[in-house]
Amino acid sequence: MDADKVIEMQSVTTPTRSQAPRVLILGGTTEASEIARRLAARSDVTVISSLAGRVRQPRLPAGIVRVGGFGGAAGLISYLTNDNIGVVIDATHPYASKISGNAELACNTLRLPLIALERPPWEPNEHDCWYTVPDVQAAATMVNHKNNRVFLSIGRQELGAFSRCEDAWFLVRAIDEPADKMPAKSKLILQRGPFHLDDELQLFRNESISLIVSKNSGGTATYSKLEAARALKIPVVMIDRPLKHKIPTVARPEDVLLKLAEFL
Ligand code: NAP
Repeated sequence: MDADKVIEMQSVTTPTRSQAPRVLILGGTTEASEIARRLAARSDVTVISSLAGRVRQPRLPAGIVRVGGFGGAAGLISYLTNDNIGVVIDATHPYASKISGNAELACNTLRLPLIALERPPWEPNEHDCWYTVPDVQAAATMVNHKNNRVFLSIGRQELGAFSRCEDAWFLVRAIDEPADKMPAKSKLILQRGPFHLDDELQLFRNESISLIVSKNSGGTATYSKLEAARALKIPVVMIDRPLKHKIPTVARPEDVLLKLAEFL
């Protein structure tokens, strides 16, 4: 889907509730879809989900859906005002820090309630071997050594950081074809999670993977790669999370709904 093209859709099964408070969910995550599903089933709110448009064929949440950027914090302020939004729920991906900054600024400016959900990060156990690095550039520098066979599943947006890695070999997994130049020695597989442990074990064995680069996304959908790494004793280069929120966050969709009840 074209990220610059803002479109709005409405599920035919979801009636518009013109009098109900309008809740905007900044989405793109499993948790955001879960919140949308639960709110769309209620008659006391109208739910609108916003997706960045990173995936060509996104799984659409229940309720009204719009896709594409707002045009920075100023654009978001205009949207919230024009669309008569009463509450904003930020349930974006842990690495999507710009939209969260914009949401805080916009809601502060308009004195709108903002509820932020941040999925808890994964934690290593005593059988894991993780090297934590601050960003993708540091990960690229760390892994680029001859004989390394690297599994790279960090989404497609930041693959460019690895394009100058000429020594290591990469197995790149993404949902859609990356726009960035791929590393010189690489193979691309296009797949969408959730992924299962048996498949991850088979993939890593078949491709003789010796190192994994991952973001600390948290959640269950992509955790099996870390379980497979543990079982096969493959080290993991873990890219640390960016600082995303200044306001306190909650961890689960249920907590968001409880907070929302306070504002409605
Ligand atoms: P970002 O850096 O926080 O956002 C960049 C811009 O994308 C925002 O300023 C905004 O554009 C637009 N945007 C982001 N989320 C939006 C939403 N829910 N609705 C409308 N517009 C939105 O986030 P990102 O560039 O999308 O992703 C950064 C990293 O997050 C990626 O590298 C990836 O690791 C991870 N990630 C993101 C998503 C996702 O759905 N966004 C999903 C999986 C992983 P305007 O300033 O024009 O409003």
